[in-house]
Amino acid sequence: MKVIKVAASVLKVNDTIALENQAAFRDNNVFVVNVMGSPGAGKTSLLLRTIEALKDNIRIGVIEGDIATSHDAELIQATGVPVVQINTEGACHLDAMMIKMALTHFNLAEIDLLFIENVGNLVCPAGFRLGENARVVVSSVPEGDDKPKKYPGMFRIADGVVLNKIDLLHAFEFNINTFKEDVRRAGELPIFEVSCKTKDGLSVWLDWLGVKKK
Ligand code: MG
Ligand code: ZN
Repeated sequence: MKVIKVAASVLKVNDTIALENQAAFRDNNVFVVNVMGSPGAGKTSLLLRTIEALKDNIRIGVIEGDIATSHDAELIQATGVPVVQINTEGACHLDAMMIKMALTHFNLAEIDLLFIENVGNLVCPAGFRLGENARVVVSSVPEGDDKPKKYPGMFRIADGVVLNKIDLLHAFEFNINTFKEDVRRAGELPIFEVSCKTKDGLSVWLDWLGVKKK
């Protein structure tokens, strides 16, 4: 009997294209951050705050991944930075080929920092390398403190975790120590406790980004 392992070969093709993307980023000196997390965790809000803080000093670009709509891309576009929207039309993650196609719409020589906002999902985006330099998971207080426990794969591959909406800690049964312990079980990751609404904690995140970029 012939058994075809589709997932493995798909991932192999993806990794090859991811390496091509990586080479293009390296050649143009672009630092690339893949931002992942559940729908509603605040990925776009984090990007908006980050752009607001950095755009006068760093040339930023954004690739927005969503199943449908250009809602988030419009929010980013209003900041004045170049943005390309990818509509996956059902696919629950971005892959390296989608990024390669999106890159044809950018002049990489004019970008220092590129954010890729992945499709809201805590599972399969973790399995698809895009050619990025850093992978960040955005989690948020209303989602509950159990996400690192229930989706360890996502946290295991991450380089950093942003815990958003800490201004809501008083309103939810969210044990921040449990959350941190479970993240640390996945790896020695920096955890940034922020509120994109009040701007609390954002400076620590921005500092880390600056250090990583160097
Ligand atoms: Mg979004
Ligand atoms: Zn998927």
